[in-house]
Amino acid sequence: MLTRREWLQRGARAGAAVALLPTGCSRPSQEPTGVWVNDIHSKLNRTQVSRIEQPASLEAVQAVVSQAGSQDRAVSIMGGRHAMGGQQFGADTVLIDMDRMRGIYEFDAEKGEVEIGGGTQWPGLVSDLIERQRDSRSQWGIVQKQTGADRLSIGGALAANVHSRGLTYKPIVQDVEAFTLVDARGEVLRCSRQENRELFRLAIGGYGLFGVIASVRLRLARRQKIERVVEVTDVSEMEGRFTERVEEGFLFGDFQYSTDIDSESLLRRGVFSCYRVVDPDTPMMEEQQALSRENWLDLLELGHSNRKEAFDRYSSYYLGTNGQIYWSDTHQLSTYIDDYHLELGRRIGPLSEGTEMISEIYVPRAALAEFLEEVRSDFMANRVNLIYGTVRLIERDEETFLAWANQPWACVIFNLHTAHDAASLQVTAEHFRRLIDSGRHHGGSYFLTYHRWATRDQLLACYPQFPEFLQLKLKYDPEERFQSDWYRHHRALVSG
Ligand SMILES: Cc1cc2nc3c(=O)[nH]c(=O)nc-3n(C[C@H](O)[C@H](O)[C@H](O)COP(=O)(O)OP(=O)(O)OC[C@H]3O[C@@H](n4cnc5c(N)ncnc54)[C@H](O)[C@@H]3O)c2cc1C
Repeated sequence: MLTRREWLQRGARAGAAVALLPTGCSRPSQEPTGVWVNDIHSKLNRTQVSRIEQPASLEAVQAVVSQAGSQDRAVSIMGGRHAMGGQQFGADTVLIDMDRMRGIYEFDAEKGEVEIGGGTQWPGLVSDLIERQRDSRSQWGIVQKQTGADRLSIGGALAANVHSRGLTYKPIVQDVEAFTLVDARGEVLRCSRQENRELFRLAIGGYGLFGVIASVRLRLARRQKIERVVEVTDVSEMEGRFTERVEEGFLFGDFQYSTDIDSESLLRRGVFSCYRVVDPDTPMMEEQQALSRENWLDLLELGHSNRKEAFDRYSSYYLGTNGQIYWSDTHQLSTYIDDYHLELGRRIGPLSEGTEMISEIYVPRAALAEFLEEVRSDFMANRVNLIYGTVRLIERDEETFLAWANQPWACVIFNLHTAHDAASLQVTAEHFRRLIDSGRHHGGSYFLTYHRWATRDQLLACYPQFPEFLQLKLKYDPEERFQSDWYRHHRALVSG
């Protein structure tokens, strides 16, 4: 069996870093050098980087970082390009695309741990694990992943310290045993709760500013059969209903609220779907209801053009799946259609122009109903173009430096449609700032991952440790080798 280091070096035999063009990235037609890149979902982070490197081994990552150092160039790091605040790109940087650092290096079936490349994406990990354990009665699977999109990398998951729809989980830091980091000097460090502990706390949730996460040792959970239990209910009952589900031992759950701006149901009624563990001998049904790609496109179309119908169709589909049995890992995979606005454009024309931009606001669970009522009035008054949204729970993260889950929050996701002209973006940014203020008014906070529209006051109120975070960044990376537009923006914001 290969050692971790041998595995990480394996790609080096096939050559060092190569500069390919990932899908969706283009070379500029005018300039002789440089590549245009953008994020997948909002497409609001078009950036020209100096070049893209795709290292396939630990040594190739080290070589890229060292070479950038000798050329006095900053480095940015991208995984699946789903962050929307410009964390994965920096203008004029050397962009490391982690796509070739994929795969399982070591699987420990005793402990339930797996060592994987930093560019590994969820679908590959989930299916590789299943394949390796095909003949085992008791199998391991992932604990949690993000919802709504799958082609996201483990490096990106750690960098944003992401969360799922687990009812009693902390962010993903809880599932990380250790990781291997290539630091600003191009050196390799193992980081865990025992080794390089401060870097462990900083790099998880540190948005790629402390080095390249080359591999991750991830804790797994036993794969279990779970039953989906669905009801349509009112926000006013959610705090109690969530508590009941947790007490009854449900593992996952979320509440998808109505976005119908002209109806009584807006942000008041929603589909509450939870998942409980069932006997392992429960048969998997041959024929289960599931939404096809076409069904998703229909729902997205209705989300933009007829929200009453969108909610009716979504809730009747979900109610129809009440009692269906799933696996605890694969049920977390979802359908995300890249560039779905192109198809919506063909169907509904100008209504679809632009993209969605997400925001996530945290409030104390007891304040959820009041917060959503306040948002409801605001959205109606400002005719906010709300496409979809959910409520989930998170437990407190006591480990990472820039912890967003510093309390057991209710997490509310808002996916707003925005056109891309300057005036529309200004209006959308104001919607998001009001959302943050509203959350704060109830003692809450916001997620740094989704946009960089928060004001200085909002940033410092929700993340008072941010100036110290920047100082620690300079302690580990005094030459600011790792940079992104998100970092540059926040550095300027904090310095006032
Ligand atoms: C539709 C959609 C749904 C989402 N759902 C959720 C959700 O349910 N829960 C949640 O918490 N988040 C969610 N997100 C946010 C998403 O999880 C984060 O933005 C995540 O960081 C994206 O991972 P990525 O692989 O696409 O990384 P990228 O967007 O490419 O990069 C994000 C950050 O990670 C850094 N990074 C990436 N790889 C590495 C590496 N190997 N080493 C060091 N740094 C690295 C980048 O530098 C950057 O700072 C969602 C986003 C979208 C668009």
